[in-house]
Amino acid sequence: MSQIVTRFAPSPTGYLHIGGARTALFSWLLARHSGGRFLLRIEDTDLERSTPEATQAILDSMRWLDLHSDGEIVYQQARAARHNEVIDQLVALGQAYWCDCAKERVEAMREKARAEGRKPKYDGSCRERGLGPGEGRVVRMKTPLDGSVAYKDMVKGPIAVACEELDDMILRRSDGSPTYNLAVVVDDHDMGVTHVLRGDDHVNNTPRQILIYRALGWDVPEFGHVPMILGPDKKKLSKRHGALSVMEYEKMGYLPEAVLNYLARLGWSHGDQEIFSRGELVACFSTENLGNSPAVFDTQKLEWLNAHYIKESDPARLAVLLRDFLGRDLGPEALADTPQILLEAVVPLLQPRAKTLVEMAEMARFFVVDAAFIAFDEKAVRQHLTPENRTLVEEYADALEHLEGGFDEAAMEPMTEAFLSARDLKFKAVAQPLRVALTGRTVSPGLFETMRVLGREQTLKRLRRVTEL
Ligand code: GLU
Repeated sequence: MSQIVTRFAPSPTGYLHIGGARTALFSWLLARHSGGRFLLRIEDTDLERSTPEATQAILDSMRWLDLHSDGEIVYQQARAARHNEVIDQLVALGQAYWCDCAKERVEAMREKARAEGRKPKYDGSCRERGLGPGEGRVVRMKTPLDGSVAYKDMVKGPIAVACEELDDMILRRSDGSPTYNLAVVVDDHDMGVTHVLRGDDHVNNTPRQILIYRALGWDVPEFGHVPMILGPDKKKLSKRHGALSVMEYEKMGYLPEAVLNYLARLGWSHGDQEIFSRGELVACFSTENLGNSPAVFDTQKLEWLNAHYIKESDPARLAVLLRDFLGRDLGPEALADTPQILLEAVVPLLQPRAKTLVEMAEMARFFVVDAAFIAFDEKAVRQHLTPENRTLVEEYADALEHLEGGFDEAAMEPMTEAFLSARDLKFKAVAQPLRVALTGRTVSPGLFETMRVLGREQTLKRLRRVTEL
């Protein structure tokens, strides 16, 4: 078989939502799996609803997900002349015709058909009139009067529609603009697309598009229609189920590989495997395992995957992301004096704990702000930093100041044991007071590792401050 070429063809009328991203991913995987090409086409022909910001949001999302086009990005609007050329060709071939029926007249025909219990459609009255171009005229497809359009959908299996069911659709509107079905066929053909995977909201367009391919004598690509994504209440996924835009997931601190892994499993499976590296997805992907029933979005599973990828990621990479997320919270200047090496030491402490980068930044805050800027949980202070415990914390600081060896767990552990046994105390007695003094809260990574990463100076400064709280 010749090389597989797939494409993703979003309309830039809003952000890229996760359903669109999933379609893009499946198309990308289908191409990558066979060493083919994946192309991106921005369908910006709806001039009223398309915006440059939406185009940018799509490009940003695709970049974030690392789903790159293997060719120049095609902008559909720029190809209007080519679309019209093909429309003229269809007219010349006798496969399409000019029609001057007013909208109201066509609506009346439809109404009448409905009333008579027939399928509402244009009655073809201009088919044989041999009209040419003219003010207010449209070009319609001369849909065959009999026969059918049958194809094997890559997801839904065999589909057949009788031509009778299909209208003489408009290919060119009265304002001269080509319609969606025509433009998509011409673009897919010119881009050499061999496999079209898209949302099943387009399934009714496909037989119409196949007719255009046939009329032009062009090779018809394979089509596959992916079912929609549902919310946990089994209704179409919408804003009220949470975030929809890909970039909102970035903002919420998800890693792109977690989102990709999650989306891949939303409607596609490979045995019962849940975790897939990018390479594994490419190796395992096949349209045969695309499900034909709607998948239900499950935020907890996405969180679980994200936690997994956070644990697995290279700390140096996460430290770069952590700086970015801390900067979003504290302002980037607040981190000007924070060395990267500190963040790289913080990350491994938080990798087992944080489910998102937002959580990680929140947990990392006390490491990067100076002792004077720690946000104290007042209840924790009241409960754990009693006058008695403050004295204990001070004494611990004294002992820590004379710590021999490195400022690390190996030295801190025996020192702490000696400190406790001299006072006949259990670790519990100092753990929370020290933790609150150091971090402002009752939950943090292990005490010794926290002190190691904070370093001698910050640790002592924080412990000594307890008397002032
Ligand atoms: N531009 C269409 C959309 O955003 C998709 C067209 C297609 O994939 O054929 O829904």
